This record gives sequence, C-alpha cells and structure tokens, in this order.
Amino acid sequence: MEQTANKQTRLSQRVRSIQPSGIRRFFDLASKMDNVISLGVGEPDFVTPWNVREASISSLERGMTAYTANAGLLELRVAISDYMNNRFQVDYNPDNEVLVTVGASEAIDLGMRSIINPGDEVIIVEPTFVSYAPLVSMAGGVPVAVGTTAASHFEVLPEDIEAAITDKTKAIMICYPNNPTGATISRAKLEQIATIVKTHDLIVFSDEIYAELSYEKDHVCFSSLPAMKEQTIVINGFSKAFAMTGWRLGFVLAPPDLLDAMLKIHQYSLMCAPTMAQYGALEAMRNGMEDIEKMTLSYQQRRNFFVKTAKEIGLPCHKPDGAFYAFPSIAHTGWTSEEFAEKLLIEERVAVVPGSVFGKGGEGHIRCSYATSLVNLEEALKRIGRFLEAHDIRGN
Ligand code: PMP
Repeated sequence: MEQTANKQTRLSQRVRSIQPSGIRRFFDLASKMDNVISLGVGEPDFVTPWNVREASISSLERGMTAYTANAGLLELRVAISDYMNNRFQVDYNPDNEVLVTVGASEAIDLGMRSIINPGDEVIIVEPTFVSYAPLVSMAGGVPVAVGTTAASHFEVLPEDIEAAITDKTKAIMICYPNNPTGATISRAKLEQIATIVKTHDLIVFSDEIYAELSYEKDHVCFSSLPAMKEQTIVINGFSKAFAMTGWRLGFVLAPPDLLDAMLKIHQYSLMCAPTMAQYGALEAMRNGMEDIEKMTLSYQQRRNFFVKTAKEIGLPCHKPDGAFYAFPSIAHTGWTSEEFAEKLLIEERVAVVPGSVFGKGGEGHIRCSYATSLVNLEEALKRIGRFLEAHDIRGN
C-alpha cells in the first residue's frame, strides 16, 4: 500500500494530473476482437509513394547516416520554404524561420514550451486533436476550451474566442481542416480571429497538417493574413498529406525569435530529426505534388460516399470540408458517445472514436475516419445501419 503511494508520489505532479488518451481504451478493446472494421485510426491507408521510400533508401546506401543540422537539412528547409510560397503565398526564410521536427507532435510541444510561463492560458478551439491540452498542461500552462457545434458546421465563432480571453491569455490554438470534425475556417472568420489576435497581442498556433486535404475550398494559411506572420506558429508535417505517419517528420514555421526558442529546446532534447527520413521528405517536397493530388481526390470520393450513405441509413452527418474524418451526430439516441461507440463495437464490430475524447462540443458525436477502402466503408455503414435499425434510433 505504502509502496503504491510512493510510486505515485515519485512522479511529477504535472504528469499525474494528465489523463491517458481516451482513444487508447477503445483500441485495446477492439484489438481483442475478430472481424472488426476500424474507422478509428487517424492515418492514411496509403503506403508512402515509392519515390519517397527510394530516396530514403538511397540516402542510406550512400552512407548519409550522420546528424543533420539541428534545424534540419538545409535543402529540405529550402524545399519547405518554396512549398509554403508556392502553395500558400507566404515567405519563410529557410535559415531562421523553418525547423524540421519529429512529427507535427514535436512542433506543438516545442511551441508550447517556448512561450508558456506558469499559469499562462492557451485557448483551444474544440473539439480537436487530443494532444493540445495535455501539451499545454505539461508546459505549465492552463488550457481553456472554446467549443464549436454542428449547428455552425464546427466553424469557430470569433466572438466565442473573444469571450474566453483574460489577462492571462497567451495564445490561441486552431486546427483547420480539423481533426475530428473535418471543418475548415473561412477566410472571413480567420480575418476576424486575426483582429482579435492583434488587439490582445496573442500568439496563434495554427495546426495546418491537413491543409492539402481541403476539398472544395482553398486553404488559407493563417500567417498569410496581413500582419499575422509575426504572431503565428504554423504547424505542418508529412504524416497526413504525404502518407508518412511512421517517418515521424513534421515542420514548424515561425518568426525568428520564436523559431530560435524552439530550436534551443529541439537541439537539447532531439538534436535533429532522423536523417534518412529527411531525405525521403526532400523527395516528397520536390516531386510529391501529383501523388498528393491523387490521394486527396481519393479521400474526397470516400467522403462523398460516407456522407451520402450515412444520410441514407439514418446517421446525421454534416459534410466535412477536409481531412479524412466525418463527425456524425448520435445525440438523438440519448446515449453518450462512449456508450454508442462501445455498443457498436460489441454488437456490430465497427470501431469508431467517441466524440467526447476530443473536448468541448465533441459529446453527441462519433469520429469516423474514412481513410479506409470503399469496400470497408460500405460494410461498416451497412453494419451501422443495421445497428440503428435494431435499436430503433435512426436519425435524420
Ligand atoms: N495535428 C493533428 C491535427 C493531427 O491529427 C495529428 C495526428 N493525428 C498530429 C498533429 C500529429 O501528427 P504527426 O504524425 O506529424 O506527429
């Protein structure tokens, strides 16, 4: 007994205050079952294109096995800078405004640790990616949730951000296209957020890792808005659009003072991102755009199929603008999202993620990733339809 207490107290208070991700429990349950169709995973179903893999293999064959510069290979930073310019019309100096990280995950962590003093508040627009709030807490900050709703297509209302600002607010975290809702933020709303940022002199974390997976609307990079580059940490990476989750490679763009602070932490904690992965990423940046287009088109087709079929089976679902997630409503069932997901898994062997794990505004929804084959999607939706019928809980 005493030993257990000791084991607890030898951990830092910060770590003890953090809950493990709610997604994990579900996947532990699903992994013990047969014949499960998973709409749960947040990663592409494509293998990284061959030319990218080949470039990485070739770097190993050529013996490129040493550390790179702390900030990443200069050629890769130049390629990232060109990419940001071509795709989003924003200029970043490869020498002091671009940092190659171990996934976007590290970029978020570095950003938080670079700017947060104890007690600083970071407004997080939710429902959203599960890592932000814990990373704010681990950096000594206080996450402040601002919710969004299906009624406004999960687009944040700038007045809700304004209302959450206190004299402790240091930054705002936004993510668009969003995980888990698929929603993007229109230029008009982004401009309103920019005005708030200017008025209160805040920093914006803009997680744009799904930028390429924007279907109908062009993606507007937050730092491309007038005067916003100075205030913004743009987070991006290779995991999603380039189908490179396992490579663990991301990048962050920020004005020199912020980037320098992030580089300081990165150089002591990581040294540099893996060299062979950086050579693959260089090829992806230089010659990967056609593959991105093909993959994006394929997700778009699957999104269309998902949304259409969900409506037919009585699963109310707004049309996501991007990423590869749908976020249907299950509020009419009277069950919590966790109850719904658990019953669906046990009775019909379809794994989805309860919306509640994504924070404020997530309850009453489930996240379904459509980054799986059309055959799987068809079968999963058939099973969900049967489940809704059996419980007499079809919505409209
Ligand atoms: N941001 C968002 C919004 C994500 O969905 C994810 C991955 N699920 C990440 C960041 C982390 O990506 P990476 O693999 O580059 O660490």
